[in-house]
Amino acid sequence: MKTFEELGVAANIRKAIEEMGYENPMPVQEEVIPYLLSGMRDIIALAQTGTGKTAAFGLPLLQQVNVNENVPQALILCPTRELCLQIAGDLADYSKYIDHLRVLPVYGGSSIESQIKGLRRGVQIIVATPGRLIDLINRKTVNLEHVKYVILDEADEMLNMGFTDSIDEILSKVPQNRSMLLFSATMPKEIAKITRKYMDDPKEITIGRKNEGSSNVKHVYYMVHAKDKYLALKRIADYYPDIYGIIFCRTRRETQEIADKLIQDGYSADSLHGDLSQAQRDYVMQKFRLRNLQLLVATDVAARGLDVDSLTHVINYGLPDDIESYNHRSGRTGRAGKTGTSIAIIHTKEKGKVREIEKIMNRKFEQGVIPKGDVICEKQLFHFVDQLEKVKVNEEEISRILPSIYRRLEWLEKEDLIKRIASLEFNRLIEYYQDAAEIETPNERGAYGEDKSYPRRKDRTSGGNGARSAEKGYSRLFINIGRTDNVNPATLMGLINDYTPNKVNIGRIDIMQNFSFFEVPERDASKVIGALNKQQREGRRISVEVAQGGNNGDDRKDRGRYSRGEKNSKSQAKRGGGYPKGKRR
Ligand code: AMP
Repeated sequence: MKTFEELGVAANIRKAIEEMGYENPMPVQEEVIPYLLSGMRDIIALAQTGTGKTAAFGLPLLQQVNVNENVPQALILCPTRELCLQIAGDLADYSKYIDHLRVLPVYGGSSIESQIKGLRRGVQIIVATPGRLIDLINRKTVNLEHVKYVILDEADEMLNMGFTDSIDEILSKVPQNRSMLLFSATMPKEIAKITRKYMDDPKEITIGRKNEGSSNVKHVYYMVHAKDKYLALKRIADYYPDIYGIIFCRTRRETQEIADKLIQDGYSADSLHGDLSQAQRDYVMQKFRLRNLQLLVATDVAARGLDVDSLTHVINYGLPDDIESYNHRSGRTGRAGKTGTSIAIIHTKEKGKVREIEKIMNRKFEQGVIPKGDVICEKQLFHFVDQLEKVKVNEEEISRILPSIYRRLEWLEKEDLIKRIASLEFNRLIEYYQDAAEIETPNERGAYGEDKSYPRRKDRTSGGNGARSAEKGYSRLFINIGRTDNVNPATLMGLINDYTPNKVNIGRIDIMQNFSFFEVPERDASKVIGALNKQQREGRRISVEVAQGGNNGDDRKDRGRYSRGEKNSKSQAKRGGGYPKGKRR
């Protein structure tokens, strides 16, 4: 292994990163840094999040930017404002000892005026989310003519979020002879397309195999009947008293439902999803980052902005529709050299998905056994005893009242005292598990018989369901473009957001052959219809209207073509009551 010095990193940058505790380069840094410093052009790096990508591209950029020229020389595009702020913050830390170097984060959802002021003051490095950068380009407040380096970070996420057109537009504004680096955790076809279009004989670096999960992550699945999923989740959380993890759910509604139940049952949990305002999301993320929350229940999209390196567990409350999402979810644990566990609570029909993930990610799942009540009680007891041993005693404060406590308890023997302390903490837990029925594992033959594989990625949201009701509070809209028009969920989301003033939350999307359906909050429906109906796409006039019967399941546009869609799962049946309240977490 080489040192940062051997890789060619300058002394002033080394000083800063040493202060941050970076002793040796991580593998992606060892590969990327010397290549970029040697003036080579384009790189595709397939690396999971948490592998040290930011320093891999950041250190050579900082070293090569000319601080005497106050014009943007490097442009970093990333999918979310949180990542944008994080990258800009990391670059600021790395450049602590480089005078006059300016990095500016520009992202949506914050004052554009102050970003324009920042640009006017002059910056050498811009870290941007694509939407806001386009806005600034349109206002002619940013000049990209001197950009020498373009970094696309989490490129697969940007495409998933519908930024393909924006990226195209931005890249058309930077000089042709720039170097371009593309970082992506996965390598879907769309990424390959971008690399062919914009990169010149790129060097391909793969940290781990393509689409392969990190070796620091253990994958475990628990198979239960659908009705027992929530009870299984609680038992898993109880079995790991120090758990610090994200529970991924499929829909906003399910996310809120599970979070509400966990909170009600006394867990340190909260929800993160698109129905919350940005301020609410920031608040929850901050609580979680500070570890004031142990469990964050989140949708895939909302969790994108969250970057936490020390998660002990990722829990899939059901498996996602595509393997890439599973890869992203599980890659949130086992980062920065730590180990982690990715748990999937599945029902029998999802066993086939487990096998597919194993094949594609080249990782084996263990089949977990839902811990029995007595095992959980024992685990929690020892956790408590551990805390008892390690608790910090404030000698000064407690010594005042200790004599009277000793006097009061002097009639108790040591063993009696311990028994009472333990019971105080655990009586309710023990009582709960004494009465709770054990969770049955469904029989395997049934499971294999009903195997269901992943749909292909492009079918991800259509799933073959036709007529269906909109989610509560949402309107289901019909649009006259579909697969034949090269529409996929990402392009549709991009289209809606491009033409609708202000951001719109987009719910379920069903892409059909010649047309599509999508859901937006009821209050935004007429705005979206008005905005899109004026537009053309590839020479075709766009037509959007409320899907007939879209909110009552009797969809005339769908009728006769598709079978009736299934409804969202109802809340899980409760058995044995909740975890006793008052549990200390
Ligand atoms: P990233 O993939 O850039 O988000 O980095 C993941 C984590 O690893 C961050 O917390 C970085 O601060 C940390 N990190 C990056 N490079 C190194 C290094 N060479 N040594 C120790 N930690 C690092």
